[in-house]
Amino acid sequence: MAIATINPATGETLKTFEPLTDDVLEDKIARASAAYASYRRTSVQDRVGWLRAAADVLDADTDPVAALMTTEMGKTLTSAKAEVAKCAKALRYYADHGPAMLEPQHLDAGAVNAQQAYVTYQPLGVVLAIMPWNFPLWQAMRFAAPALMAGNVGLLKHASNVPQTALYMEELFRKAGFPADVFQTLLIGSGTIERVLRDDRVVAATLTGSAPAGQSVAAIAGDALKPTVLELGGSDPFIVMPSAHLDTAAEVATTARNQNNGQSCIAAKRFFVHRDVAEEFTRLFAEKIGELTVGDPMDPATEIGPLATESGVQDVHDYVTDAVSKGATVVVGGKEVDGPGWFYEPTLLTGITPEMRLYAEEVFGPVAALWTVDSLDEAIEIANSHPYGLGSNLWSEDEGERAQFVRDIESGMAFINGMTSSYPDLPFGGVKQSGYGRELTDLGMREFMNAKTVWVG
Ligand code: NAP
Repeated sequence: MAIATINPATGETLKTFEPLTDDVLEDKIARASAAYASYRRTSVQDRVGWLRAAADVLDADTDPVAALMTTEMGKTLTSAKAEVAKCAKALRYYADHGPAMLEPQHLDAGAVNAQQAYVTYQPLGVVLAIMPWNFPLWQAMRFAAPALMAGNVGLLKHASNVPQTALYMEELFRKAGFPADVFQTLLIGSGTIERVLRDDRVVAATLTGSAPAGQSVAAIAGDALKPTVLELGGSDPFIVMPSAHLDTAAEVATTARNQNNGQSCIAAKRFFVHRDVAEEFTRLFAEKIGELTVGDPMDPATEIGPLATESGVQDVHDYVTDAVSKGATVVVGGKEVDGPGWFYEPTLLTGITPEMRLYAEEVFGPVAALWTVDSLDEAIEIANSHPYGLGSNLWSEDEGERAQFVRDIESGMAFINGMTSSYPDLPFGGVKQSGYGRELTDLGMREFMNAKTVWVG
């Protein structure tokens, strides 16, 4: 894939970049390694100051950075601005809470015949972050803020279609006053990742992206015995039971499926509605989907912009065509939007059966698939038959149903009467083929830390 900025709203190539040569790549890894030797010794208070400064830089840069993201991958300008604000919040979250997370954890010294026994959390070194384009600033920041707070050094290999946002990430930390080379962007194709990952100076990796990319990185990292965190695909269930407030559930369902132009790992993608309320919920859901404004992502009135890539539109349409050919009903949408750019109509499909490809895969675009079910047991059983287990949603006022859902749903996150979202204050991650490890909170920071046991006799 060429490293280039291509505007998805027009299909126009705006800027292309040459991948780094071997010599430049070697120099960047050497500089990252040298930076780590001193950065790991910086004080926690200095890191807190740099994180706060980075948040202030982001606040000041909001308009140009948001416009850049919209230009590179098509998210609406409104949502791009919200993404910048969320990144500033994550930086401030780690500035506020990071010092306490880095405190040693004292253990029962008497039980191990010691004067003192404790765990001290220390950074690991240079970490490679391989990131996707869909939340180009947020995905990278979810890694960067805790990593830099911890004293690690970052190398970012971002998706090839967001090179300017990737370069901005490096500039951001430089402008904030962090020591040189603690966060560098590598403009390289995915074929060069193995060379970086096998380098002895790179000690760990995190990847957010598709399952095939995760398999490849995990295999290489496993061979080289380096830890990884994987945040992969999702096809989150959204279960609606008879006690739910249907209008609110349909409103949130519409946002949950179509956020980020339908391209979010934690978008609700499969809707399981109890038969008693299926007709009414389907009517409300279809009505709200049909009212979404599709158009120029720079226009504040637009709710759905283009998909990020031309192949993405084709993939989405292939899923819809396959389902319809096997008996699915298109309630609303179901085709590409005429004209330039890579737009797809927000779509609702019903009559889903296991033969359809979307039954057990992930549709990365604004297509909702709806099942009518007779019980919560049935909804959970079908939901769990999917290989992914990222987020999940239940709409119910019934305590027993909520408890059953939390106990039985196979997912890393369970949201009740609301849509799955990421917050710096909540752990984020999945199970099964959605990956392993957690991001955000203290759990995310400690993924790339050495919990060193200290015994003093
Ligand atoms: P992708 O193709 O896997 O790309 C993600 C990143 O991995 C990019 O930097 C890409 O580089 C790189 N990459 C691609 N193939 C690779 C390989 N074989 N080995 C190593 N790296 C490789 O992902 P996508 O299709 O653009 O993004 C959508 C997927 O990401 C969806 O499945 C979505 O659910 C998932 N996602 C998950 C989360 C989460 O938190 N769980 C968040 C967002 C997205 P190039 O761009 O150079 O190919």
